[in-house]
Amino acid sequence: MADLRDLYQEVILEHSKAPRNYRELKPADHKAEGYNPLCGDRFTVYLQMEGDKIRDIGFQGSGCAISKASASMMTQSLKGKTKAEADKLFERFHQVVTGQESNGNQTELGKLAVFSGVSEFPTRVKCATLAWHTLEAALEGKQEASTETE
Ligand code: ZN
Repeated sequence: MADLRDLYQEVILEHSKAPRNYRELKPADHKAEGYNPLCGDRFTVYLQMEGDKIRDIGFQGSGCAISKASASMMTQSLKGKTKAEADKLFERFHQVVTGQESNGNQTELGKLAVFSGVSEFPTRVKCATLAWHTLEAALEGKQEASTETE
């Protein structure tokens, strides 16, 4: 598993250095700010909707490599998805980063499976899920999300 772990680490580092969709959307139909006080990660997620579908998504903010890479890969995964599909993906993602899902069953997650290693570091789980909590808040029309309300 060592090789796979190195690869995962590489993907996370690459996304944290060059995050995708790192921009404010104007005008945004929904936006929310998320904060993880344990690590100091803070991001704003912007959404443009088309009915129930995420037409475009962007984020800005600052945080550790895991939180930034997670936000970057989340935006890549969610473009064109419906709210229900986003909810489902977050549920799966949460199971993987908290170690509730076995490694053999990650096909639906695609690239997001690189975060499975986070389950070995419980303090980093909130870094990995911050962007997703913020997304959920934005989809629900809330302005703020904190990992501490979990
Ligand atoms: Zn963090």
